[in-house]
Amino acid sequence: MLTFRCPVCGVDAEETELSPGGEAHLKRYGPGSSDEDFSGYLFQRENPRGVHFERWRHAYGCGKWFHAARCTQTLEVFGTYPAQTTEPPQEILDTITKKRPGWTWRELGAK
Ligand SMILES: [Zn+2]
Repeated sequence: MLTFRCPVCGVDAEETELSPGGEAHLKRYGPGSSDEDFSGYLFQRENPRGVHFERWRHAYGCGKWFHAARCTQTLEVFGTYPAQTTEPPQEILDTITKKRPGWTWRELGAK
């Protein structure tokens, strides 16, 4: 079972207390963008086997959204951080790189 530490209230929350919100750090496209960019924003997601950045809501706790970095294959959690950040904090990227040598941050959402 997944367990995340909510960065808002500090509680270790089990998966059943949380609601998934999909991929984090999507680049949003709106009016004036190309059909291809808008279609990509609506429908295309990374869905990796490995390191992934996601949005979660502490639904049965403080109710706030946050971001989490985890491995979709092993369910290992690399860290959580506030939803207001536009990209993962350097300490989380360093943690992932230490545990997954050769892994590099890429610009998610730049499709
Ligand atoms: Zn919380």
